[in-house]
This record gives sequence, C-alpha cells and structure tokens, in this order.
Amino acid sequence: MNGPAHWAEADLILTGDADPCSYGCPHTGCPREMAMIGRAIAHGLLANTAAVIAANRLSPADRHEWQKAIDPEYAAEQAAEAAL
Ligand SMILES: [Zn+2]
Repeated sequence: MNGPAHWAEADLILTGDADPCSYGCPHTGCPREMAMIGRAIAHGLLANTAAVIAANRLSPADRHEWQKAIDPEYAAEQAAEAAL
C-alpha cells in the first residue's frame, strides 16, 4: 500500500459510510469503534511518512496519485476522462 492508498484508507474509515462497529452497539466509543479509529490514525501516519520521504522528488505519476487521493473532484474528473 503506497502513501496515497494509506491516505484514502484513513479517509474511508473516518468519513466513509462504513459502520465503525458492525455489532450494533447502542453507544459510541465501543472497543471495536476505537480499534477502527486506531487503524485510521495508523494509515494517516503511514501516508504522512510516505509524503515526507517523497518531499519534492515526486514523479508526475506519483503526484497524480496523491492528487487523486486528496482531491475528490480531481479524482472524479480523472475517472470521467478515463471512461471516455
Ligand atoms: Zn460496538
């Protein structure tokens, strides 16, 4: 999993439609939800590490992948162009 993919995974966990706990607990903050938040933090840290290492040495292809991961509008435009 590369940096943009780690970013996307963290974003999906935190803002996606996925239920943080599939057990239907009536309260927030159950251990399973806490574990998912931990996973999101870990993915965010790995994404940050990848970005720091790449710094100003991003290839155009890598920059494209980061842009798709962090900018939903750009990702949608790229997907639309690819479908033509
Ligand atoms: Zn739960």
